Amino acid sequence: MKNPQHHISIPTLLDVNEGNLAKIGSLVKKTGKTHVVLFFGDGIKELFGMTVIDSLNDDNIEILHIYEEDNNSIDCLLNFAFSIPSTAEMIIGVGGGKVLDIAKYVSFLNDIPFISVPTSTSNDGFSSSGCSLFIEGRRRSVPAKMPYGIVVDLDVIKSSPEKLIYSGVGDLISKITAVFDWEFEDAKGVAKIDDFAAMIAKKSVNSIVRMDIKKDIHDEFFLRELVDSLIMSGVAMEIARNSAPASGSEHLISHGLDQLAEKPQLHGIQVGVATYLMSLVQNHRSPRVTKFLEETGFFEHVKGLQMKAVDFERAIDIAPSFKPYRCTYIHLEENRRLAKRYLETDPILKSILI
Ligand SMILES: [Zn+2]
Repeated sequence: MKNPQHHISIPTLLDVNEGNLAKIGSLVKKTGKTHVVLFFGDGIKELFGMTVIDSLNDDNIEILHIYEEDNNSIDCLLNFAFSIPSTAEMIIGVGGGKVLDIAKYVSFLNDIPFISVPTSTSNDGFSSSGCSLFIEGRRRSVPAKMPYGIVVDLDVIKSSPEKLIYSGVGDLISKITAVFDWEFEDAKGVAKIDDFAAMIAKKSVNSIVRMDIKKDIHDEFFLRELVDSLIMSGVAMEIARNSAPASGSEHLISHGLDQLAEKPQLHGIQVGVATYLMSLVQNHRSPRVTKFLEETGFFEHVKGLQMKAVDFERAIDIAPSFKPYRCTYIHLEENRRLAKRYLETDPILKSILI
């Protein structure tokens, strides 16, 4: 191998602070780009549109076009991709996961920089290179490009619905079981772990679970840590060039729930519960996972959602089928049996699932 080191893309612009939506103009100005296209998610323009538009106008950034869209089907997306004005130098996506994925993919197809401005941080998608798109009636993960910039307004995140913050909490804690699955695969010779990506993924979650502060989802300091950690998780996937550092057996169970449950819950909510379950199966750091999910109020929140144990049972059965080439804990029959036994016997799971 000529060059054994590898190179990755990381965001050039990264700003996580209070009041950032009103500063978006000055942040974009720093990049030297002056012609932008805006994508707002459904209902986002009414809430935050004027703040963003005024800020861009104040800094003489020309807005060439504004799209308002939450349809992440590939057909719809291709229409946008070919309608982007040729003078556009940058695409800015403002909103939740769907619109950020749309804007990210459109910028990828047009090969222009993308600035990710999440109004909620319910998973690590806002800081990753991958997109979740609807292709031929199915949700699929497709590769795109790391955002050029990530701008997070902590005031906006703070005022976002609790369930979205809890979803972020659940997605973050999953790095504990995901990295353990990856190490398991490496030991079995099925995958080759990327040491640096694994370290970043571990640090992302450890910095928050070990932090000696009140784990209050409304606390500014906690939210800042949560957002930073989710960003690090996105970067870990970029380093590994796959999702393994951030997504293991717990994510496979969540994919199963998406397919089977009558009413699937938010990604990070499902993933958080599955992380707790898999930490028991892996016999790996489950006291830490429990403590964090208890202290943040995650378990209490989940109790009100009426998630069904029977859905988890079926999701466990089909979990390996989503990534048959992997060999996480849930790929082994004996571990699936063990997981199902925990559903029946573990006091916490019995109290949060119906
Ligand atoms: Zn996730």
